[in-house]
Amino acid sequence: MSLSASAELLKTLVSFDTTSAKSNLELIYYVEGLLNQAGIAAELVFNEDQTKANLFASIGPKDKPGIVLSGHTDVVPVAGQQWDTEPFQATLKDNKLYGRGTADMKGFVACAIHAFLQAARLDLHTPLHLCLSYDEEVGCIGVRTLLTVLGHQLVAPKLCVIGEPTLMQIATGHKGKAVYQAICRGQEGHSAMAPQYMNAIHVAADLIDGIRATQQQLAQEGAQDDAYEVPYTTLHVGKIAGGKALNIVPNECVVDFEIRHLADEAPQDLVEAVEAHVHEHHPKSVSWLNIEAVNQYPGLNTPTTIDAVRFLQACLPENTPLGKIAFGTEGGLFTQTFASPVLVCGPGSIDVAHKPNEYVALSQLDLCDAFLQQLIARLH
Ligand SMILES: [Zn+2]
Repeated sequence: MSLSASAELLKTLVSFDTTSAKSNLELIYYVEGLLNQAGIAAELVFNEDQTKANLFASIGPKDKPGIVLSGHTDVVPVAGQQWDTEPFQATLKDNKLYGRGTADMKGFVACAIHAFLQAARLDLHTPLHLCLSYDEEVGCIGVRTLLTVLGHQLVAPKLCVIGEPTLMQIATGHKGKAVYQAICRGQEGHSAMAPQYMNAIHVAADLIDGIRATQQQLAQEGAQDDAYEVPYTTLHVGKIAGGKALNIVPNECVVDFEIRHLADEAPQDLVEAVEAHVHEHHPKSVSWLNIEAVNQYPGLNTPTTIDAVRFLQACLPENTPLGKIAFGTEGGLFTQTFASPVLVCGPGSIDVAHKPNEYVALSQLDLCDAFLQQLIARLH
């Protein structure tokens, strides 16, 4: 059986091990080569130590609002996972391509590049842009430098399509995420005299009490969006480390926590609510506690009634569902930069992402190809 051009390209993209901790340059140079062969110039925006790059390319008129096809080139690690096939060598089985990144999200990247090369032969009246980023999986890092550059040179797009895996359904929103690290201090001392010393783990417990109280309040009285399985903003402690030995009062405890918030909610307000709770209920702990913001990306909440949604629907099969997704994307950052409508739509399922034996069905790639063909048909 012969594979589609997009599926063949996906196989090549999978063969570049672009785990976030590694360089993505081989893949980026490969894509740049493909574009150059078709007479399209690509702009690379590198990270500080020049080991990774975003790629931006554009076809069609420069002075008009266009359509962005956006994807990330990095993938999550395979370490510690039991794969039945070689993760960086896409393997065809039962009309599915198995390999790391097939669903998240080199499948879309392959379809987007293929569509882009086809569109380059046409006389477009509406520009088409291709954005490929690095380090999405470690906190949407790379795309920020790209957006800083594009914010100055690109006319605000009519629509940005983020091709994260939605099984080719349209997602109009997702929650934002903010990551924090709390350093809880204490005083080391002999545990026989424990009450004479400040215990850093006890300070951490007081903080966690504040986090849980804030969560409870949000669940009961906070904003709700029933499009989400968990309809309210959530707070969660994911990691805690403290203490050296049982007979020493601990002098440090580090708590990592995150907030997954509805797009209209400000995570900083919730951190203040946590601090206010500690202040009220555990006043002695306040001065031993320091919360630092580590990373955050905004939520996405594109109105379902706008033209961009109808445009995308027209490019997809009839009755393609509209919904929201549980996971984050770079979409909110695009909205922040351009105030343009952002929609998420891509092949494959998030259910197989980040796991061993990740795959994308060939039928999903075909659907994506058909979608992008419909999209291009409306640009010329
Ligand atoms: Zn992804």
